[in-house]
Amino acid sequence: MVVVEVGSPTPRTVRVVVQGDLADWPEPGAAAHTKVFLPDTPSGPVMRTYTVRHFHRAEGLVTIDFLLNPGLGPATQWAARVVPGMRMELGGRSRSAFSPDPDAGRYLFAGDESALPAIATCLESLPASAHACVIAEIPDEAEAQSFTSPATVTGQWVLLDGDGSALKGEVIAAARAERYDRIWVACEAATMRAIRRALLDEGVPTDRLTTRGYWKRGESDHSDHDTGADVS
Ligand SMILES: Cc1cc2nc3c(=O)[nH]c(=O)nc-3n(C[C@H](O)[C@H](O)[C@H](O)COP(=O)(O)OP(=O)(O)OC[C@H]3O[C@@H](n4cnc5c(N)ncnc54)[C@H](O)[C@@H]3O)c2cc1C
Repeated sequence: MVVVEVGSPTPRTVRVVVQGDLADWPEPGAAAHTKVFLPDTPSGPVMRTYTVRHFHRAEGLVTIDFLLNPGLGPATQWAARVVPGMRMELGGRSRSAFSPDPDAGRYLFAGDESALPAIATCLESLPASAHACVIAEIPDEAEAQSFTSPATVTGQWVLLDGDGSALKGEVIAAARAERYDRIWVACEAATMRAIRRALLDEGVPTDRLTTRGYWKRGESDHSDHDTGADVS
């Protein structure tokens, strides 16, 4: 795949559009991720996990939003200097991690900056009859993105506090104030576990709760299968 466009929807987000043959790709659903192979980073070739933000089979285009996070790992460093013409490969298969439930009307989506692309795709997948509340952690107001959705969306930006406790506090407050049919949370692995524990303690049933650790403090290339299932 070849990088054909590089944008910057927010100061810390690098939006990369790549073009190639997508003929054998399944249609990626909401919150689908792919493996990104970067042949040329300061650490040599690396593979990391990213959300498929947009997918256009006919034109062979895939869009990925890279967060310029302070961990400054190789993928982040690559994104900081990417220009059109550079190459990357994609895992080719991508799984949806969220699909709207026909019986559900009220959704709560929560996450940190790494989850904003996934949350955006979830919101785009909702029916017009749905109501969604978004609670997202960002370092400053310049990182607030606008979302589009057929559903009615209310939102709240939580400022980063370093240990995820502000995000957790707002998610628990929202879950206490209203019954959500589906709660979807993705963020740093320890913060995700703290939120999951607190939601289960509030009586949220596991079948209404989806949690994902998208990265782990101090760890490179955290697993893309971290569902927090050890907290039950
Ligand atoms: C299913 C899934 C979807 C994802 N989608 C996206 C996406 O669309 N956009 C996106 O930007 N990221 C996304 N991520 C997160 C991304 O895979 C990680 O941030 C990844 O670690 C970045 O690779 P790296 O080479 O920059 O850093 P690594 O080499 O993996 O890590 C280097 C250091 O950076 C730290 N670090 C990693 N991520 C962060 C962070 N977000 N904030 C602070 N420190 C961090 C690590 O703890 C480590 O200490 C997703 C992860 C998963 C599992």
